[in-house]
Amino acid sequence: MRLLIMGPPGVGKGTQAKGIAEHYQIPAISTGDMFRAMKGQSTELAKEVQALMDAGQYVPDEVTDRIVVDRLGKEDAQNGWLLDGYPRTIGQVHALDKYLEERGQKLDAVISLVADEETVKSRLLKRAAIEGRSDDNAETIAKRMKVYHEATDPLLDVYKERGLLIEVNGEGSVETVDERIRQALDKLS
Ligand code: AMP
Repeated sequence: MRLLIMGPPGVGKGTQAKGIAEHYQIPAISTGDMFRAMKGQSTELAKEVQALMDAGQYVPDEVTDRIVVDRLGKEDAQNGWLLDGYPRTIGQVHALDKYLEERGQKLDAVISLVADEETVKSRLLKRAAIEGRSDDNAETIAKRMKVYHEATDPLLDVYKERGLLIEVNGEGSVETVDERIRQALDKLS
């Protein structure tokens, strides 16, 4: 299985990605987690990434594409993967297309988690209180939402046109949403 999970910040992508990936025994690969792991490193790149994240802006495509390609080359990703938070720009869609084409591979599905804007904002503020993520404050959240709507929302149409998009209602408990995703994916096989 080669899957993408998409949706606005706070919709529950990371949580659902872990459950789905475990079920299909593939790694859940989150670009956000990979960037957060760079925190505290003293390289220029790490500092640039941190500043962009704190401002709610995207890391440039060439940096993001490179870390994804490196990660997909690892042993555990040879039988499939679930990408969480990538691609987020049309340039990244093209980079992923190229990567797959070069290997004669294709995506099986793109899961789009959908939830009301107020639901996602309140989830993000709750997460801020629990996890203390430096980009989960009201100002950055508003910026991330804006960037998401401008740069990433249009990608859903790209995958819809390709017949890959599966829209899943992201409201409700973790278990309920997990069940909805699994039912939709089971129909594929
Ligand atoms: P996330 O945990 O997926 O919400 O990502 C947190 C932050 O990491 C984002 O607000 C961006 O600054 C950065 N980031 C994660 N994935 C990407 C991506 N595919 N392209 C550019 N920036 C990204």
